[in-house]
Amino acid sequence: MDTGLKRELEAKVFAGERLSREDGIALYACDDLAWLGGLAHHVRTKKNGDVVHFNVNRHLNMTNVCTASCAYCSFQRKPGEKDAYTMRIEDAVRLAKSMEAEQLTELHIVNGLHPTLPWRYYPRSIRALKEALPSTVAVKAFTATEIHWFERISGLSADEVLDELIDAGLESLTGGGAEIFDWEVRQHIVDHATHWEDWSRIHRLAHSKGLKTPCTMLYGHIEEPKHRVDHVLRLRELQDETGGFHVFIPLRYQHDFHDSRDGKIRNKLMARTTMATGAEALKTFAVSRLLFDNVQHVKVFWVMHGLQTAELALNHGADDIDGSVVEYKITHDADEFGTPDKMTRESLLDLIRNAGFRPVERNTRYEIIREFEGPDQARRETPQPMRV
Ligand code: SF4
Repeated sequence: MDTGLKRELEAKVFAGERLSREDGIALYACDDLAWLGGLAHHVRTKKNGDVVHFNVNRHLNMTNVCTASCAYCSFQRKPGEKDAYTMRIEDAVRLAKSMEAEQLTELHIVNGLHPTLPWRYYPRSIRALKEALPSTVAVKAFTATEIHWFERISGLSADEVLDELIDAGLESLTGGGAEIFDWEVRQHIVDHATHWEDWSRIHRLAHSKGLKTPCTMLYGHIEEPKHRVDHVLRLRELQDETGGFHVFIPLRYQHDFHDSRDGKIRNKLMARTTMATGAEALKTFAVSRLLFDNVQHVKVFWVMHGLQTAELALNHGADDIDGSVVEYKITHDADEFGTPDKMTRESLLDLIRNAGFRPVERNTRYEIIREFEGPDQARRETPQPMRV
């Protein structure tokens, strides 16, 4: 990128002017990562100060049985496959209860599109989980794809489905099922029936009912930077309309080689993909932060980025990190990084402080639960022992 264009874009960002599609594409074409990170850091600091948010949550996948076969997905199993599973509601409750001691504030639930589970299973699960857990634990559950599936299996409208789930205790949808909205890419990676029209319809509806929801983007597979830009601009437009997204989450596609348990390759994109490098990941965070000017938070999901890239993402536009995650199956079935299955509150605090920020624990609604001390100056001034 030539210096003239850099100065032009800087001026826009510092004046708080909205960036265009062309600006987004130009930013992706720029290899000056330090400059991009600096610009994004300026914006994240203006919006969120020196704070990095985190929450203590539990990811729960009640079934991995799915009628769809999305090209990138290593999680789904077909009925009868050896490690296909579906939890009874009591088992899901027992699992969630086993986490109580960790003071979680959020249960995050996504599932496969099970071909025969009745619709009633879902509101009953939410109700049972809410009844069993302390009132401080919010249930964030189901992608827009699942809500669309529930319409199909229940014969109800999304309006009725959401009303019933909210009545059972649902406090937020999850942001998944977005992947990349552009059909040019989407037709090759997504096998279910939920595309931009239905995804946006369902989130719009959720927002109209007072729910705040996250939104995501799966990047680093067969899409080009222009598709990432278009994806974010669609979400930005919807956000102009509803104001209902509280966070944007770029998710790095996992290029796996085999499933660790049965050796089967389920990822059909394998032959055509590698995976976004750390630098590409940081660029995606920075450009997303700069383009998506009307969303308050950008979150890094460390399970999909590894801890070191996640730490660096906090200096490239992200102000939120998820989370104390246990047993995150959808990603971990595809993980080659040896990232741990979970992080404790303490290791998360260390990571945030090491990146130079002040940790703040939040709940699902982004209300502050607890504030912590910022970086430890003494630790920064003393050489640290190597961790092995
Ligand atoms: S991404 Fe979701 S809908 Fe697609 S195959 Fe996997 S579990 Fe099923």
